[in-house]
Amino acid sequence: MGRSGQINKSFKVNFDLCTFCNHQCTFCSNSDDRTIKSSVNFSDFIAVLDNVTQYIKINNLSLSAKGEILLNKDLERIINASKNIYKVPYVYFSTNGSILNYQRSKTVLEAGVDSIKFSINAIDRETYKKKHLKDDFEKVIENLKKLIFLKKDKFPKVKIFISVVTDEAQDKIINGFKTILQESYEELDGILLYALQYTPKDNHIQNQNILVERKYCLISPLNEVYINSDCSLGFCCKDYFDEINFGSLLESDFLSLYNSSKYKNLRKCFINNDFKENSLCYNCLTYEAQKEEKRC
Ligand code: SF4
Ligand code: SF4
Repeated sequence: MGRSGQINKSFKVNFDLCTFCNHQCTFCSNSDDRTIKSSVNFSDFIAVLDNVTQYIKINNLSLSAKGEILLNKDLERIINASKNIYKVPYVYFSTNGSILNYQRSKTVLEAGVDSIKFSINAIDRETYKKKHLKDDFEKVIENLKKLIFLKKDKFPKVKIFISVVTDEAQDKIINGFKTILQESYEELDGILLYALQYTPKDNHIQNQNILVERKYCLISPLNEVYINSDCSLGFCCKDYFDEINFGSLLESDFLSLYNSSKYKNLRKCFINNDFKENSLCYNCLTYEAQKEEKRC
């Protein structure tokens, strides 16, 4: 801790700007009634960032987690402020891409976003419809191609990824996107494959009996700060229903929440690698399928 109470290290901040969604993917917690639906407006974003940046440096700002961020009408102003007021080096978001048409792509790129990840969970229209419960496959591919065109034309530094939640073979998915995107495929910065992590009703994990070997945490709360869509300080995007909440960043000082005994105790679990049985992290770390993230 510095003289002014600053924490002398940089953090990744994940600020979940919008938890509404226009899709209802079968594998996603968003469709579950327990998901808190909310969207952060520009003035609240500024109030929260003013609060947080008194104490920490942000090296990486993710603006999405559990919803469709393009539904947030203040997104462009928020990206612009992140880059120009808070000087965050890397700002990015994930989207299902269905409303990221040419005009919207242009405005978010002009606002200064560094990276966009398209969540496309199938390589054909029928499977997509079954998984997203929306017949938007062709529209999404069209939007992705237009975004790639804009990148090539005017924003060459912007990174564009596709993410896919799938149980299908890696080669099949990659070859599928090569065929669909043709020459645009070469402009992509990567395809990220994720195994299924959530199914409704069993609360956080697909099958608690799958295994038992404890693996690493993909997030690490020691280096990341998670902010819920109601501007409260949360813990992790895998806390699908915001069950861990340290208090509102619109009402309380970030440092007092970060240093609360509740938060300190959770961080201590990571330092000591000792998790209470059936806690969020305990279940997450003992779930094998989650560790199958691959970068292609
Ligand atoms: S995976 Fe993304 S697009 Fe699908 S319901 Fe969840 S938030 Fe919406
Ligand atoms: S739930 Fe816990 S263990 Fe899992 S990714 Fe989040 S912080 Fe890491």
